[in-house]
Amino acid sequence: MSIWKSIKEEAGDVITGKTTALANVEKSLKIIKEKQEYNAIIANTADRAIARAKEIDQKISKGEKAGKLAGVPFIAKDNFLVFGADTTAASNILKGFDAPYQSTVIEKLEAEGAICVAKANLDAFAHGSSTENSDFGTTLNPIDKTRVPGGSSGGSAAAVALEMAPFALGTDTGGSIRLPASFCGTVGYKPTYGIVSRNGVIAMGSSLDVIGPLTSSASDAGIIMEVISGKDNRDSTMIDRAEKDYDQLDNIDLKGLKVGVVKEYLEEGIDSGIKANVERVIANLEKAGANVAEVSLPSSKSGLAVYYVLCPAEVSSNLSRYDGQRYGYSYDQAKNLDESYEKSRSHGFGDEAKRRIMIGTYVLSSGYYDAYYQKAQLVRTKIISEFEQAYKKFDILIGPTAPMNAFKIGENIDDPLKMYLTDVITVSANLVGSPAISIPAGLVGGLPSGIQLMAPQNKDKFLLSVAKKIEEIV
Ligand code: GLN
Repeated sequence: MSIWKSIKEEAGDVITGKTTALANVEKSLKIIKEKQEYNAIIANTADRAIARAKEIDQKISKGEKAGKLAGVPFIAKDNFLVFGADTTAASNILKGFDAPYQSTVIEKLEAEGAICVAKANLDAFAHGSSTENSDFGTTLNPIDKTRVPGGSSGGSAAAVALEMAPFALGTDTGGSIRLPASFCGTVGYKPTYGIVSRNGVIAMGSSLDVIGPLTSSASDAGIIMEVISGKDNRDSTMIDRAEKDYDQLDNIDLKGLKVGVVKEYLEEGIDSGIKANVERVIANLEKAGANVAEVSLPSSKSGLAVYYVLCPAEVSSNLSRYDGQRYGYSYDQAKNLDESYEKSRSHGFGDEAKRRIMIGTYVLSSGYYDAYYQKAQLVRTKIISEFEQAYKKFDILIGPTAPMNAFKIGENIDDPLKMYLTDVITVSANLVGSPAISIPAGLVGGLPSGIQLMAPQNKDKFLLSVAKKIEEIV
């Protein structure tokens, strides 16, 4: 039994006076303190959170509207601009950076009465799958402290699993919400590209980045999606969301649901326990009357290679703004501007950011652009069209979230290629721009294991509704 009820109930209890926003914030801060050793949190916004909680309680006592999420505490990954603490993206180059404005999603959550209590750890700039690339140290897996929580939103997933708050925000460029969700045993939702504003969130790969919630259930994810999605003219990449009312999920009948099992996601390289676990869920789906069949997405095998060309290309461009001149770390003994750029960037960035800047600059450079960047774009288009074909036959696609469960701290850190392989399944949804969710599907070898469900673009409500039903049969 969780110490938090569903998000709807938590807000209801505050609105009806069963509890107060202040009591919720204090409860959250207490757990954060008690579970400090996990290093899920790298900054707290306690003072601001307490002040906001008091404002909300006052509104309620005066009979004023306090919002759909009145007094519900949450934790934001530290790449969201938030008032009340520094925003660092877990990188030394941004230590001490005080955001001049807040992310649109934070503003939207605050407008509905939610309260940000802390900032979660991540791989610096969201580059990674384990939080080991954080300049604030690794987050420990909540179930086994010798293992990683996944990444890059590892602090957010661990915080929800450790019950520090009813939900957390993450970002997902190649799997960073879903992978840690599967490693920590929480729900992780990656929405359709473009339906949640990225204004005020530190950019990684702009054609891939999305924002989404980490929660304890698909319904809770729907509630957060309802609040954070929708057009914002400060993010020019947005599309209209096709559906509304994500907070009222449909009662889907699994009978007759067309489920495609992606063949390539259960082939070599997948842990046998994970494979068996997915097969068990598939058997349950069949028992519930779903029409399950295998589907092949041959180009998805190239997804990882495509991602690790396109993503670094975009990273190299997005990270060029950190030059030590306007904000963040600046080398103060430079004799000229060139030296200031060079030393600020080489001291401020960690190894992984540097690796991505070098790869990205290389694949975009004249003479190599056609061989790498352009070719990767062409294969990306092929992957998109294979998914479109599959969705003509299937309502949803299913597979494991990752080929393995939480690995040991230190196990992959010296081998970037091995680390990149953790993303082999999740990157497809980012390349395609479609929604995807990881839901807990029991333990494998004593560790949480997630299954991933995917649906066509702008079918977010449908996917969340299906996930809610599948949660009942896993
Ligand atoms: N693990 C992937 C990477 O390192 C994904 C990161 C992300 O989604 N932010 O790029």
